[in-house]
Amino acid sequence: MSEPLRLTPHPLTPRCDENGAPQTKIAPYKPVVEPCRACPGHCCHLRVKVSLLDAIELCRTIDVPLLAALRVRTVKPHEHSFRVERDPRVIESVDGWTGHAELELPRDEDSGRCHYLTDVGGFQRCAVYGARPTGCRTYPVGWTTETQRGGPGAVACPVPYALRPQDERRFLEHVQLAIDRWAIHDAVVAAWNERDAHGLDDFFAFAIDAAAERAGESTARLEVEGDAERELYAQQIASGVLPPPA
Ligand code: SF4
Ligand code: SF4
Repeated sequence: MSEPLRLTPHPLTPRCDENGAPQTKIAPYKPVVEPCRACPGHCCHLRVKVSLLDAIELCRTIDVPLLAALRVRTVKPHEHSFRVERDPRVIESVDGWTGHAELELPRDEDSGRCHYLTDVGGFQRCAVYGARPTGCRTYPVGWTTETQRGGPGAVACPVPYALRPQDERRFLEHVQLAIDRWAIHDAVVAAWNERDAHGLDDFFAFAIDAAAERAGESTARLEVEGDAERELYAQQIASGVLPPPA
């Protein structure tokens, strides 16, 4: 059975009633109900780590290969990181290469803006909202259980995020999902890190399958890399629209 989970009080995530009236005395500002509707996606300029199951959901939903949808970043070894040889497809230079990496959402180098943040008539919106990773779903709340705690280092929301009962329920559900997904991720990368070979393709073949199996997920249609033009070319040959190469 999972441990009791609760959200951590914070002045920028005040607990409110159904109408958005604050229920705590820690809120110095007036809370705003559903603030994301007006926000230009401040949190979408932050680094978002992606667990293996988050990666599966994202790539399967948008039908894009793993290396197109995600970034592999070298990091100091930590509980979520995996050992991997430097791979020229994804890793910048030998300098600073630690031998460990993690998965994250692709971002613009200068602005930090997530590649999935899109402009719709002047509003900034997530283009993969239904399949966004749990790091996005749980922002901006902090949380604790008997043995763990988590949440953002700082809250980037421009106004206090009103936590009505329905918001709190949704966040608790998403935090629990994040805890469960990272537990599977950590177990899989721990098993991978014990192995001898550490190529990136081997990592995906091992880790994606192992994570999916533990969660009862499907890995159908998941590829490590691909190219839409080449795929179309292959399909045109297969369908007879183009002749096979001589
Ligand atoms: S969670 Fe906060 S920072 Fe992110 S879009 Fe909503 S209001 Fe903006
Ligand atoms: S995936 Fe969507 S919600 Fe997450 S950072 Fe990118 S644009 Fe924002």
